Amino acid sequence: MSQPVVRETKHRTSAQSDARGLRDEAAGSAPAALFFPGPCCQAQVVRNDVSTELMPAAVYVGDGAIEVQQLPVPDFGPAEALIEVSHCGICGTDLHLVLERYARPGSVLGHEWAGTIAALGADASGWEIGARVVLDPTPGCGRCRACKRGRSSVCVRRKPPDLLDFSRGAFCRYKVVPAAQLLRVPDGLSTRAAALTEPTAIALHTVNLAHVSPDDRVLVTGGGPVGLLTTAVLRSRGVRDIVVSEPAAARRRRAVAVGATSAVAPDELPRAQMGRPVDAPFTVAFECSGHAAAAESALDQLDYAGTLVFVGTGSAPPRVNHNRVIVMEQTLMGAYNYDAEGFRPALELLASGALPLDLLIEPVDIRLDEVLATMHRLTAGELPGKVMVTPEVSA
Ligand SMILES: [Zn+2]
Ligand SMILES: [Zn+2]
Repeated sequence: MSQPVVRETKHRTSAQSDARGLRDEAAGSAPAALFFPGPCCQAQVVRNDVSTELMPAAVYVGDGAIEVQQLPVPDFGPAEALIEVSHCGICGTDLHLVLERYARPGSVLGHEWAGTIAALGADASGWEIGARVVLDPTPGCGRCRACKRGRSSVCVRRKPPDLLDFSRGAFCRYKVVPAAQLLRVPDGLSTRAAALTEPTAIALHTVNLAHVSPDDRVLVTGGGPVGLLTTAVLRSRGVRDIVVSEPAAARRRRAVAVGATSAVAPDELPRAQMGRPVDAPFTVAFECSGHAAAAESALDQLDYAGTLVFVGTGSAPPRVNHNRVIVMEQTLMGAYNYDAEGFRPALELLASGALPLDLLIEPVDIRLDEVLATMHRLTAGELPGKVMVTPEVSA
């Protein structure tokens, strides 16, 4: 197993930048260190500093390895905002990209971020430096064949997110985004917890697509961050009968803590007989693990007219017994991206207090030089909840 290499540990930290009098750590919500805020909302950027400043970033260097490197703080255009990343969650997609070596060497991953506006382009109106924000996804076009069928989540004209693209990654201190797409983090919600917005929006979309009602008996296969969030969202929707199937004991315990009625090991789920439901079948199943065996077992557990939603991606496809799907009139569907309303409902749900944020997010945040080792721990099932990365480097 490759270990992360800290190539350059000497970097300007926020605390060091205090010498410039730009950041008040005690205030806790002061803007980034590198830029002078102008009067009111009119941000004046000290461009000289930008081009020469470096930031730490966790860079994928190929062969399943990540190095912390010092990269230039990215430049931004007139309609853009420079964001100081507060926290960025590690997603299952990041695990696939790094550990299965799909990522493009030189890229910075991480897309589940929340942060603070550090600088604004001249045409970026309506925002002020220091505002706490997340980025709303690009809405559907409303005219393509997917949007016309009410599925803007797969709008044909939406540019697919390039997760290998450095400029989008947030396992680093600064990133540039279109200011018009920013959403303000509600007052009652911490910036750290707001980094859960993207996966929460996915969980909401997943549950909405499946038209789950409180009377449903729901199976969630996979008790990692996606399965836990899905469980918590189901619970917030009034669903009471939720069983989580998960091999790791720590994740089973966490699943019950976030709202599952019970949690079982995968081998506790029965095999179905041909054309018949199991003894206690489920009306809806969410496959959140990405494992073929879990999907095949979830299909076995489905009732007549039951629905299986594929949420977790994986490299080996499951075998589907089409005869069973036919005679039991089951529905198999995928859930990807977000509802047409974007991230606002997820932010509101997170701020509402209805989700157990302390259980959904791991208590200990990690630094950039710990990303790779933590990815291996997540893959091993050692960490149930979402792990947040802060753009710091261990001393
Ligand atoms: Zn993600
Ligand atoms: Zn469209």
